[in-house]
Amino acid sequence: MALEDFRADALRCTRCTYCRWIPFDHVKSARFAKGCPSIEYGKFHSYSAGGRYVTALSLMDGRSRVTDKLRDSVFQCNMCGLCDVSCKICRYDMEPLAAMRELRFALVKQGHELPQAKPTLESLRKQFNMLQQPASERGQWARDLQVKDLAVEPARYAFHAGCRYSFDRDLGHVARTSIRILQDAGLDVGILGARESCCGGRAFNMGYRDELVARANQNLRAWRTAGVETVVTPCSDCYHAFKRIYPPESGVEVKVVHMVELIAELLSKGRLRFGKSVPMRVTYHDPCKLGRQGEPYVPWNGKEKKIFGQAVAYDPPRPRYSGAFGVYGPPRDVLRAIPGVELLEMERIREYAWCCGAGGGVYESYPEFARMTAHERLAEAEATGADALVSACPWCERNFVDATWSSGSRLQVLDIVTLAGRALGLEEEH
Ligand code: SF4
Ligand code: SF4
Repeated sequence: MALEDFRADALRCTRCTYCRWIPFDHVKSARFAKGCPSIEYGKFHSYSAGGRYVTALSLMDGRSRVTDKLRDSVFQCNMCGLCDVSCKICRYDMEPLAAMRELRFALVKQGHELPQAKPTLESLRKQFNMLQQPASERGQWARDLQVKDLAVEPARYAFHAGCRYSFDRDLGHVARTSIRILQDAGLDVGILGARESCCGGRAFNMGYRDELVARANQNLRAWRTAGVETVVTPCSDCYHAFKRIYPPESGVEVKVVHMVELIAELLSKGRLRFGKSVPMRVTYHDPCKLGRQGEPYVPWNGKEKKIFGQAVAYDPPRPRYSGAFGVYGPPRDVLRAIPGVELLEMERIREYAWCCGAGGGVYESYPEFARMTAHERLAEAEATGADALVSACPWCERNFVDATWSSGSRLQVLDIVTLAGRALGLEEEH
């Protein structure tokens, strides 16, 4: 697609600003009614989905030129997709998230990259990871584990750790615990180690489409060569890239599960049993890429039709990503199954969850904005009375951990795999 393909949407946008808020019938308090971190930080309409439609139209029609300020208004956004969910409540036929991504693709293609994003992209192209680390060290997190190397022996399951779990020393224990859980359940699992590549999803959301395609080709080729049937990942960004972006971009279907979905399935089949008590009050943060953006990709190749020159219809009907069918049940099922765990819900959950702040290149390019977004979520989590904020994505966890340091929050930040490992007696040392 191209930016021009979103012209009709941009013209249809009524500038109602509904995309700033969680849908009004889901508001539980004025304090936690906001939905869009970007406009909360930027304090101006351009820093919202509706505002970016105006920007796109203005650029397409040559009424604006790309200044530093305009570029910031486009990239200072988490690409969390809350606006997309809220907009569809009143304008079900619009795709603001896809339009904003296309606007980024256009700016990057025209050479208007963010200078602060360049080192990350350089690392992705040369070292195949987003953390500016040597590719040769990617498998180091698993060096003490007895796990199949997919380069030398086949396995039914490929465990994809992702960049953050591979290189972030504070979080690598989650990947190691994941392997122990999968092996305990008797699954035939292997890893690609140093041959694993970044999923490309974060670069895609930062405006770099070609980098996603290159990374997809590398991963798909490696899985095919290893005879893998299923890819399992504990990273929500990787999950989203494999499940939602790879099929349309690469033309290849991959069977993908998030680690938390697999744990829930193995529990329901009796292949895992939680035997240890974990007395703790927790609240669960729905990662954007596992929740509202975690809906499966539905192919559509139709036409937009104008009826009486005004109303719009799609032939055949176009799939609608409302966010309602993301992965919400399995994490909650897992938490409720752990003896001693009490789950306390925040006000904004499921498809209406407030973002962690790390997405869309914001963690790399606008750290202060990333921190503000996380502080807002920590405040909401603390209001539940929970001892710990639990998530299912290393990028959420990294940003939340950083934010607890800067805010002095008393909350522990944990991955759901850590809690499951604790209940199974399989938790790896931090
Ligand atoms: S993007 Fe949607 S919700 Fe936002 S102003 Fe436009 S029509 Fe309203
Ligand atoms: S993607 Fe998130 S941060 Fe960006 S405009 Fe939409 S709601 Fe705001």
